[in-house]
Amino acid sequence: MGSFAIIGAGISGLACGNALAAAGHQVSLFDKGRGPGGRMSTRRVDTPIGQAHFDHGAQFFTERDPDFQKAVSALEAQGAVGLWRGQFVRFDSNGQQSTLGDEPRYVGTPGMNGIVRGLATGLNTAWGMRVSTLSGQKGAWQVHFESGETLGPFDQVVCAVPAEQVSDLLSQHTPAIGDQAKAVRSLPCWAGLFAFEGPLKIDWDMARFDGHPVLDVISTSVNKPGRTGPATYVVHGRADWSITHLEEAADQIASFLLQELAALCGPLPPPLVQSAHRWRYARVETSHGPGFLYDGVQGIGACGDWLSGPRVESAWVSGHHLGQALSA
Ligand SMILES: Cc1cc2nc3c(=O)[nH]c(=O)nc-3n(C[C@H](O)[C@H](O)[C@H](O)COP(=O)(O)OP(=O)(O)OC[C@H]3O[C@@H](n4cnc5c(N)ncnc54)[C@H](O)[C@@H]3O)c2cc1C
Repeated sequence: MGSFAIIGAGISGLACGNALAAAGHQVSLFDKGRGPGGRMSTRRVDTPIGQAHFDHGAQFFTERDPDFQKAVSALEAQGAVGLWRGQFVRFDSNGQQSTLGDEPRYVGTPGMNGIVRGLATGLNTAWGMRVSTLSGQKGAWQVHFESGETLGPFDQVVCAVPAEQVSDLLSQHTPAIGDQAKAVRSLPCWAGLFAFEGPLKIDWDMARFDGHPVLDVISTSVNKPGRTGPATYVVHGRADWSITHLEEAADQIASFLLQELAALCGPLPPPLVQSAHRWRYARVETSHGPGFLYDGVQGIGACGDWLSGPRVESAWVSGHHLGQALSA
């Protein structure tokens, strides 16, 4: 059985790790984040009335793929995933509200990162470890960390990070994968994070905005399963608006997005939390397509949403299929 280093323990890296581990391989995952989540992170902020929880990246996920359905069912049984029975609406460019399709939407519990935490159970995963470079070759890869530490040897390496970071890490070793990653552009997203003592006066849980100059999506935690603490609201800016304002200070962005929330909901009570998070690589503009990439000469694979589609489910499928291919 082989040994694999997986760089990135977001949902795609973990799906790959689980498929490899199920086939009996030795798997070590490394992630620069302080805890599980990646773009499915949950931020916790203390307030005078309890801890506020924000899913500030992905808001929900679908389960269309049969293998992903099985994985979601297992996680649901563990209490790491729940069905979000919310009201989902769309506003058109004239402000007209309509209902979004009623496909089941799932979330991690008690926060979105619950699913990532669940998938990491039983895998050898190290957080807070940013990989800076690789050296070696197939059968003898060394992984070098920003901290100065080096771990290895590993037979093969999987890179499960956004495309821009893939090209930095892999171009030197596998130009074929590096060049494909370089051709991909990820779009940013500013997220406003707001908490209030009680729910705001709106009759929906998530709204998508078509043709709005600033807003892309607004969601509330109020009816998400397993959430406790103050009512929280996440306001995602459109990609083009986020690009224009990318380098502005987070507190300015938070004030601006709070005004947008007020424009929609009417006068707001004083927020318990008011902040903003910048996702520099939120979602790929266009996905590359093959599902995953593998250089068999070098023993390097790549997976993630940039190869499959800018959604949680697609990222999982990408990692799962790469793990199965490497196991075979
Ligand atoms: C604002 C926003 C809203 C979204 N909304 C939705 C939604 O509603 N529904 C949906 O289905 N999808 C949504 N998505 C997309 C979804 O979150 C992603 O497609 C999915 O989470 C990608 O998973 P991944 O494993 O490919 O990448 P990631 O989740 O980004 O995981 C990559 C991991 O690699 C780590 N990493 C990066 N570089 C290094 C390094 N050098 N060393 C070590 N570790 C490293 C990171 O810390 C991260 O944990 C949204 C994304 C964003 C940002």
